Amino acid sequence: MSTPAPSFLRDLFTGDINESLLFPYPASLAVRNPAEADTVRRLVAALNEMVRTGLIDSRRFDEQEFIDEAVIQAFAREGLLALTIPTEYGGLGLSASAYARVFGAVASVDASLGVLIGVHCGLGSKAVVIAGNDAQKSRYLPGLARGETLAAYALTEPETGSDAQNIVTRAERSADGTGWVLNGRKHWIGNGQRAGVIATFAQTPIERDGQTVLRPTAFIIRPDMPGFRVDGTVRKLGIRGSTQAELVYENLFVPDDHVLGEVGKGFRVAVNALNAGRLSLAAGCTQGSKRILDEYTRYAEARTQFGGPLASFEITQRKMASMAADAYAADSMVGALAAAIDSGDVDVALEAACVKVFASELVWRTSDDMVQLAGGRGFVKPWPYERWLRDARINRIFEGANDILKLFVGLNGIQGPAEDLKEIAGALRNPIQNWVLVSGYAAGRVASAFGKRDRLAAPMHATLRTHADYVERHTAELAKATQEAITTHKKEILQRQLVVERLADMATELYARCVTLARTQRLIEERGVDACVREIALTELFCLQSGRRFRAAREELSSESGEKIDALRRQIATRVRTEGGYRSGDALLDVPVPPLAGFSLTRQEQERHVGL
Ligand SMILES: Cc1cc2nc3c(=O)[nH]c(=O)nc-3n(C[C@H](O)[C@H](O)[C@H](O)COP(=O)(O)OP(=O)(O)OC[C@H]3O[C@@H](n4cnc5c(N)ncnc54)[C@H](O)[C@@H]3O)c2cc1C
Repeated sequence: MSTPAPSFLRDLFTGDINESLLFPYPASLAVRNPAEADTVRRLVAALNEMVRTGLIDSRRFDEQEFIDEAVIQAFAREGLLALTIPTEYGGLGLSASAYARVFGAVASVDASLGVLIGVHCGLGSKAVVIAGNDAQKSRYLPGLARGETLAAYALTEPETGSDAQNIVTRAERSADGTGWVLNGRKHWIGNGQRAGVIATFAQTPIERDGQTVLRPTAFIIRPDMPGFRVDGTVRKLGIRGSTQAELVYENLFVPDDHVLGEVGKGFRVAVNALNAGRLSLAAGCTQGSKRILDEYTRYAEARTQFGGPLASFEITQRKMASMAADAYAADSMVGALAAAIDSGDVDVALEAACVKVFASELVWRTSDDMVQLAGGRGFVKPWPYERWLRDARINRIFEGANDILKLFVGLNGIQGPAEDLKEIAGALRNPIQNWVLVSGYAAGRVASAFGKRDRLAAPMHATLRTHADYVERHTAELAKATQEAITTHKKEILQRQLVVERLADMATELYARCVTLARTQRLIEERGVDACVREIALTELFCLQSGRRFRAAREELSSESGEKIDALRRQIATRVRTEGGYRSGDALLDVPVPPLAGFSLTRQEQERHVGL
């Protein structure tokens, strides 16, 4: 059996603090790879120039609902479409750290551009880089690197979004045996209306244990393949400059040499590309949050009410401080995750999910606070704040909806790595049937891990040490809570999402604190403590607030009141579902009002029946 790659976060659920995975915090890119740091500086300077000259104009992109072709061409000229493509295929072959830094700059300048680049570099081209063979890479990557065409990534369908393993698009062998015939629909596909290379996914019949079963396979498709059609684009709340299309495959013939990876192994291709995408999305959200905080500060100093600038009031300062501390933590997580990906020898799937959730929630809170600070100007045009809020919202939905990612983190933490035991891999495929194995495995790990590496022993400045002590205690608490959850709920835990969600929240808080402590410790060692007063304060505030959130989740898991809250939630939700909504009457006077129009799940039906 091969040894699974280590994962700091997964081990935390067992009470194991594998600090060698986080300490020492990685040096800055300028130290690790000066040449690459120069490339990043050049790319960001080119981007800034496009903003300065007005080529990038976010307000215009938002209103016209597309990004001008001239911008895409300028991006191609500067190499901004070649970021993740290996140098042997004409790309810049940036490391994860460098790509995250450039992507963060692009997304924070304009979120729609971030989506365009993220889909092109981080998902579509990335799928070819990860899973393509030499012939496919040689054929497609150079053109994508030069920006002659864009790449797209087409997984989501009207019927299946989060449950992506169960896509319904089908691929059957062609009658002449030279390829595959695809039938199905994909919707909301970024760059889909103009992409020349699309990584897509369809269920293919494969033989498994003497039976024919359906498993996703990844394919490269092109719009000039017969049977491919773009069925319009969608209008949206935010990121309006980016374009998402509905793609139709009607007997779309895909030759065998366009299968990406192995037949039946497409879900892994899809997930690996998404894992890589989560780092860049988090980097974009983090850089975006920092830029918004800059504007928050400027605005708060400039706007005077009640005889003083808004910045002079404590409530404004509370928000400023929390935003700064959370941005510092998010930044620390992005840096650690990127370096871990570059090291190549750790499993960061859980960390990537955590960081994506943390940073996307942060940019949402930050843009909401910005709107609040700006008052009416936050809500109306031409101020950009309402657009920033609209743009921020999607990050909590795509590349793995945050609720799903929390379940992913929690369930993986409970179940342990699938690679460890074959039986666990089976359990993950069919968790309910195989629950006993899962339960025994997880409990065993918890028991064996106690007393092993339960200390955060890395040398640490005295101020940070206090918070490291809490990390140790809380890690033991997480392990205890995990074990309690398993023994209390047994196979029911798969249905007890509120329990799993709290465990995931606790683990995320711990991971964020560990990484933040590691970064600050490194800075202290590099610059001396006097030069790190700001960073120490940010770390302390983050650790204190994070500790409170951790304890709140722990308290709900361990106390009767937590159980009671969950029971009441279930009871009320059952009633709401039975009655089709809120039916307890009006506190003032019951007067019937017309119900909201019922909306169909499909856009076509909505347009037909509701007249949108
Ligand atoms: C602007 C935009 C761009 C996009 N770009 C692309 C793209 O380029 N390529 C692509 O393939 N896809 C793309 N998507 C699709 C996106 O990834 C999906 O919207 C996302 O995966 C969620 O799927 P869904 O919308 O069908 O929501 P659903 O799967 O219907 O989920 C809706 C909500 O229910 C919750 N939920 C679902 N299952 C559970 C559960 N088991 N337990 C608890 N809660 C649950 C989720 O948290 C979610 O918030 C894009 C979407 C948008 C809106």
